Amino acid sequence: MTFDEVLLLKVGETILKGQNRRSFEEQLLKNLRRALSPLGDWKITIAQSAVQALPCGEGADMDAAFARARRVFGFAGATRAARVPKEMPAILAGCAAYLRQELTFAHTFKCEAKRSDKTFPFRSPQLCEQAGESLLQEFPHLKVDVRQPDVTVYIEVREQHAFLHADQARGAGGLPVGSAGDAAVLISGGIDSPVAAWMMARRGLRLMAVHFASPPYTSERAEEKVHRLLSKVANYAGRIRLFVVPFTEYQEQIRERCPEELATLLMRRGMMRIAQTLALRENCGALITGESLGQVASQTMQALACTDSVTTLPVFRPLIGTDKDETVALARKIGTFELSILPYEDCCTVFTPRHPRTKPKPAALEAAEAKLELEPLMARALEHTVLHAIDGENR
Ligand code: ATP
Ligand code: MG
Repeated sequence: MTFDEVLLLKVGETILKGQNRRSFEEQLLKNLRRALSPLGDWKITIAQSAVQALPCGEGADMDAAFARARRVFGFAGATRAARVPKEMPAILAGCAAYLRQELTFAHTFKCEAKRSDKTFPFRSPQLCEQAGESLLQEFPHLKVDVRQPDVTVYIEVREQHAFLHADQARGAGGLPVGSAGDAAVLISGGIDSPVAAWMMARRGLRLMAVHFASPPYTSERAEEKVHRLLSKVANYAGRIRLFVVPFTEYQEQIRERCPEELATLLMRRGMMRIAQTLALRENCGALITGESLGQVASQTMQALACTDSVTTLPVFRPLIGTDKDETVALARKIGTFELSILPYEDCCTVFTPRHPRTKPKPAALEAAEAKLELEPLMARALEHTVLHAIDGENR
């Protein structure tokens, strides 16, 4: 019995989008094609809210392909499946052949059938019955258990082919990256901002990233850490352009000319201004940060209002209402946690005031900023900004 093995991916929320459905699907297929391209050529098609990816040629690494497909936003479920002709003998033989290993080691099983092609001459219960009987003959040690089977054999009769598979895994969820437009994430080496980036990519945003470095206070290794963090995010979000902005001069001027207790907020406002300039140049529609209400002095409601007031773009803070342990759980899931806790200095930590203001007044910040040469500071920072392209791992 020979059959083609495919990835069978179930489209998630995208199907809800009515008129925009076509362009969502096109973006989804493009992203999947890009994710699978390092593993050879694939024939990728979509029908009835399911995407099939068939490797062209022999020897495709299906394990790797499956892992990659599971990181493409926009799919609710994912499985490897055997694709067979829509004929009962092929379906029955296919189930036994494709799931031989699982069925050999199982004690109990059940069959589930779905017939989206209503012209197929057998109804779902008949399909299940026949497949069940044939499997019991082929694997006499098995028993049927419809409640808690060790293996469920799924038979899906679709437009062109029938698909046979065991349990499907969850997909990455969310919406296809790019379907919601572009946004710029302010990325530090901490735990929060990579998670925030990942969350917004999951909602369909294509990311660019802005990182502020303060050499010689911050090291090359600290920047390297940011590259590695973004590479983890790029596993899901695709290639990310990273702008590294030199921030030392701006920070030193704050330290020399402004009240110490306002230093962090003045710095945060500087970051927002510069990030917004870059974001607008690159056609981004929003900024993203990893801030969470009350986590540190610069993340009180009053402090956030003072950072927001220097930007016109909306600022997305997906972690605003999450607890740290929830963020840590997500960081572990996407693989950034272990990197984030490496102890390299961040530009925020080297200039931290001893008693930061938690309820700042906008007027006090503006008065302090009047002592800074804002325009030339920003212009020089932007002039020396360096652009990197960050790809996912194993690209
Ligand atoms: P994180 O874990 O993301 O660093 P945090 O809780 O440590 O967050 P802060 O260090 O106060 O909080 O930073 C708040 C947000 O400001 C970060 O989530 C990030 O979006 C942005 N940010 C902080 N430092 C930098 C930096 N060096 N470059 C770019 N963005 C930064
Ligand atoms: Mg930080």
